[in-house]
Amino acid sequence: MKLSLLGCLFAASFSLHAYAASEPPIRLVIHGGAGTITKNTITPEQEKEYQEKLTQALEAGYAVLNKGGSSLDAVQASINVMEDSPLFNAGKGAVFTHEGKNEMDASIMDGSNRKAGAVAGVTNIKNPINAAYAVMTKSPHVMMVSKGAEQFAAEQGLEIVDPSYFRTDFRWEQLQKAKEKEKVVLDHDGKNAALFVDPMMYDYKYGTVGAVALDKNGNIAAGTSTGGMTNKRFGRVGDSPIIGAGNYADNNTVAVSATGSGEMFIRTATAHNIAAQVKYNKTPIDQAARNALDEVKELNGSGGVIVLDKSGNYAMEFNSEGMYRGTIGNDGKPQVAIYKND
Ligand code: ASP
Repeated sequence: MKLSLLGCLFAASFSLHAYAASEPPIRLVIHGGAGTITKNTITPEQEKEYQEKLTQALEAGYAVLNKGGSSLDAVQASINVMEDSPLFNAGKGAVFTHEGKNEMDASIMDGSNRKAGAVAGVTNIKNPINAAYAVMTKSPHVMMVSKGAEQFAAEQGLEIVDPSYFRTDFRWEQLQKAKEKEKVVLDHDGKNAALFVDPMMYDYKYGTVGAVALDKNGNIAAGTSTGGMTNKRFGRVGDSPIIGAGNYADNNTVAVSATGSGEMFIRTATAHNIAAQVKYNKTPIDQAARNALDEVKELNGSGGVIVLDKSGNYAMEFNSEGMYRGTIGNDGKPQVAIYKND
């Protein structure tokens, strides 16, 4: 009797273990921007704030994935936490344009069918990533810009806020400093130089946010949301809402979200570059990410990417000094990092 009870217990624990081992993998990887992020450029208090907010973003996405929700919902849940935080250059806390406005870009992609949605130059949508999702799911289009995107978002019932909601003093001061530097360049360079001022001359600490997720059904998705670059002009749009540049997802290859000097990410089609290497050359994803960032560097750009495939393999690569980043998997234990050697 005793023996058979033991036998039962053994069988039960064995099957429990077997069940755990065969549980479908879930994974969420996030970034909160790359740039000149070193122990010297942020205080210990700021470091702690970033760690806590990244952890909260991971937990929000994990809660969705763990209960069987979709990778698209996890990506949005996680990005919403970062958009709502003034710490990142997305949603509240977005950087200012030359004219002193906040103009935001975002995109999302569904790896199961390669549907995608994006918005650019929006000024009053509280969570631009949700507007990108609405474009993907509620319209036949992929990208909407400016007033049209705002009207569409309002009609879809998304939260609309007064543009002043996005303002933070920190970003405002950043704009004033950028304008000062531009003036110095102008004084030395003459007439029309302002049109061609190199965006890389500004304090390079981007803060764009992104997430890639794998759900229990084996579907991957990617999302990216940003305020763009401080002091941007003339309706400038970066890589974040450009499918194949700052964002991409295909179940057959990878989900990618990028951050960095957007112009160079567009010119090298970074996100699709990584997917193409995986598809045609079977390049391991971390190597594919490094190759793509090397191309960005050839054009004097820098930044980082997060990459995830449908088996749960992931990479967080960057060629800047640091990248706010983190990941969480089946065990539900969030891991966050900031600096190069973390
Ligand atoms: N890639 C973004 C852009 O160029 C900036 C960033 O990553 O922070 O708009």
